Amino acid sequence: MRIAVLLRDRCKPKRCSMECIKYCPRVRTGDETIVVGEDGKPVISEELCVGCGICVHRCPFEAIKIVGLPEELKTDLIHQFGKNGFRLFRLPVPKEGRCVGILGPNGIGKTTAISILSGKIIPNLGEIGSKPSWDRVLEYFRGTELYEHMRGVANDELRVVVKPQYVDKIPKIMEGRIKDVLRKADEQGLFDEVVQRLSLNNVLDKRIESGKISGGELQLLTNAATLLKDADLYFFDEPSSYLDIYQRLNVSRVLRELSEKKKVVVVEHDLAIMDFLCDVVHILYGEEGVFGVVTHPKAVRHAINTYLSGYLSEENIRFSEPIEFEEHP
Ligand code: SF4
Ligand code: SF4
Repeated sequence: MRIAVLLRDRCKPKRCSMECIKYCPRVRTGDETIVVGEDGKPVISEELCVGCGICVHRCPFEAIKIVGLPEELKTDLIHQFGKNGFRLFRLPVPKEGRCVGILGPNGIGKTTAISILSGKIIPNLGEIGSKPSWDRVLEYFRGTELYEHMRGVANDELRVVVKPQYVDKIPKIMEGRIKDVLRKADEQGLFDEVVQRLSLNNVLDKRIESGKISGGELQLLTNAATLLKDADLYFFDEPSSYLDIYQRLNVSRVLRELSEKKKVVVVEHDLAIMDFLCDVVHILYGEEGVFGVVTHPKAVRHAINTYLSGYLSEENIRFSEPIEFEEHP
């Protein structure tokens, strides 16, 4: 299976000679493998493309990616951002009583996956010609582990809260004392407990917009605000960045306890925290802006070792170079 992706922000047809079209051997023989779209940018036919890669090398702005993917993924396409757009294959599966981790770099579909699982995006299943619908989505997921979850999202019966990744942006969009923000977020009467568990007592009177709140304090604030909400599924996108090791362990313990009662999904880059916190992990691999694949869930240690090795033995796929650690004296 071959996909052709145009990185639209890089493609500048007014500053090139449309080398992609000019040198495509299929176009030269007279077919329409690449045509000019309504916006003046190229549209590549994946059916006609033979994958020679000439357009990739000829484009002066490296705006085209032609990628070969395993045939098995064909039926696993969950969402595609337009023709020649980014594609996400498969989704993580949230599970009650288990902390589910997602491990992988940024830019390959994590936010899209979270948006789909929280109902912000109706996945189009790659059917880019028609408007996506929940009926079609439920039909697709029928008989799978995700069916009940998607049904809950489609019927607005499932409440999802997301702890955002970029906590440094919080002071730009929020103001007030930390205490007041957390009291407002508290839907379960857990203010005292969460403040104490996350050691937030000393910062409660600080004002968010003051510019005097550290990244770690902002991280604790957003983790606490998320924990105080009453939801069915909690997403924590990088809950431990900016935190010191004690705070990381503290937050991990709280999230672990939460996962015994609710569905919890965590995106985490700290492998030690991932190991401590999660029961199962989905590896997310792919190419930034081009495609992302969510693997089937793996036991946490197996997932971490697989991630470090860069090789999925079950699927015989090398997704990155192995990560090796050097010993320092
Ligand atoms: S893909 Fe590259 S060569 Fe083709 S129009 Fe865009 S910038 Fe020009
Ligand atoms: S990979 Fe080759 S055949 Fe496919 S669009 Fe590019 S130049 Fe044409």
